[in-house]
Amino acid sequence: MSEETSKKGICYLVGAGPGDPGLMTLRGKECIEAADVVVYDYLSNPEFLKWARPDAELIYAGKKSKNHAIPQGGINELLVQRASEGKIVTRLKGGDPLVFGRGGEEAEELREAGVDFEFVPGISSSIAGPAYAGIPVTHREHCSQLTIFTGHEDPTKAESSMDYSQIANAPGTKVMLMGVERLRTITEAILAEGADKDLPVALVRWATTGRQETITGTLTTIADVAESVEFKAPAVAVFGTVVNCRENLNWFEPRPLRGKRIVVTRTRKQASRMSRELRDLGADVLEMPTIRIERCQGDDAREFAHLVAEVHSYDWLIFTSPNGVEHFFEAFYTIRNDAREIGGVRIAAIGPGTAAKLKEYHMGTDLIPEKHVAEGLAEAFEKDAGSIENTTMLWVRAKEARDVLSKRLHAAGVILDEAIAYQTLPETDDPTGAVKRFREEGADIITFTSSSTVECFLDLGLSIPDETAIASIGPITSATLVENGYDPDIEAKSHDIPGLMEAVIELANEKPFGEED
Ligand code: SAH
Repeated sequence: MSEETSKKGICYLVGAGPGDPGLMTLRGKECIEAADVVVYDYLSNPEFLKWARPDAELIYAGKKSKNHAIPQGGINELLVQRASEGKIVTRLKGGDPLVFGRGGEEAEELREAGVDFEFVPGISSSIAGPAYAGIPVTHREHCSQLTIFTGHEDPTKAESSMDYSQIANAPGTKVMLMGVERLRTITEAILAEGADKDLPVALVRWATTGRQETITGTLTTIADVAESVEFKAPAVAVFGTVVNCRENLNWFEPRPLRGKRIVVTRTRKQASRMSRELRDLGADVLEMPTIRIERCQGDDAREFAHLVAEVHSYDWLIFTSPNGVEHFFEAFYTIRNDAREIGGVRIAAIGPGTAAKLKEYHMGTDLIPEKHVAEGLAEAFEKDAGSIENTTMLWVRAKEARDVLSKRLHAAGVILDEAIAYQTLPETDDPTGAVKRFREEGADIITFTSSSTVECFLDLGLSIPDETAIASIGPITSATLVENGYDPDIEAKSHDIPGLMEAVIELANEKPFGEED
């Protein structure tokens, strides 16, 4: 037996939750990180693919109803085949794998083929969809029973086995999945079986994401409402008086950025916090990293290590980005074993983001300029730091940094050394298919957090459609945009992420999207 086949494979049948990435389980994330192969479907958020190893095989298995990318038989075969090769296969399914997710059938096939499997439950849209619409599926004042049913049975079945009299007469809340397309037929059938014609009904589509939309009505009116607004799948329908709770409990949809698709172009590593904050404001976030940060190699790396080792001998240590701080301390603690060896050097940070990163390393800051750009830092030194002539400074910088700071400090008589900590490269990897989604679906707002995010965005051959508003973090980034023929619609007042978030909210409130100024 070869080494390859002697390893025992396994298939994890993982619930990917309803859409909000925060609703994935920790176990689910572990399974994606461990996978050799990830098989995902239409309803599992593609953002999760960023957790997969770069060498993992990513397979799209469909399915938008009627448009199966791989038929179910093919999926079962694929899972069995890859796992039989000794691979770790993670099968991602929207919601919970066992709630109308065919996880049971896939597990049976795996068992029959002698392949190990594990069920990793997920948060089902049948519960989460109503919750995000402000509807508790059970509530002591309303019901003591919950029924979940499908509005779309196996299309290969000749006759419907749905007994709508049971649905009509079941007490408590009823939740229907996969029923939007047959909504009129189903509501009519339930009414014909004697259900209360005024029973409140709500439909929630793309629940828990920035695209969530909800409509409400009664058993009699809901099909008309859905038709009049061309309400489309995927949606969860809730039948019951609990729907009335929404009037008071609708917590998610009133958020300021709801329904707005916002693109984040920062590095994959840095994007997640900003994306989380945007999602918390209700946005539909498209993480499309255009840059990645890499440690320098060769001579640059040796020179950097040498300067870091000598840090205690300088009067000032200057940081112009959080990345610089991270790379500096990584190198410092590789060389030195004692924090005190940094000596009495004073520390300057270009802005609050950089200062906050320093704080993570338990380092205070002696100087933060009012204007968070190189010019501001140079001015602050000239003004606040007294005479800087003949002082020694070590500037921790990116390879591609502008030379404004060094020119001005040199002119002021500073003895300046420059430690090149990292370089910014274009991000060419796109495991989540974000570039494709941007090209096909566009966005309401695109955010740029540095000149290099702009340059690398354009290097990817992308352009910004007229209807997409542009938010820039500050004047340097704006200048790069203008040089390339794009006028930013807004520039952050404070040139950091909180400043950019404020700008995005202002933009969202300011004008209806798609309109010219
Ligand atoms: N296993 C899934 C259900 C799969 S069946 C779960 O537990 O959620 C597919 C149906 O789920 C869709 O037709 C729709 O009714 C529902 N659904 C899944 N994700 C949804 C979402 N984010 N918003 C609304 N409905 C969703």
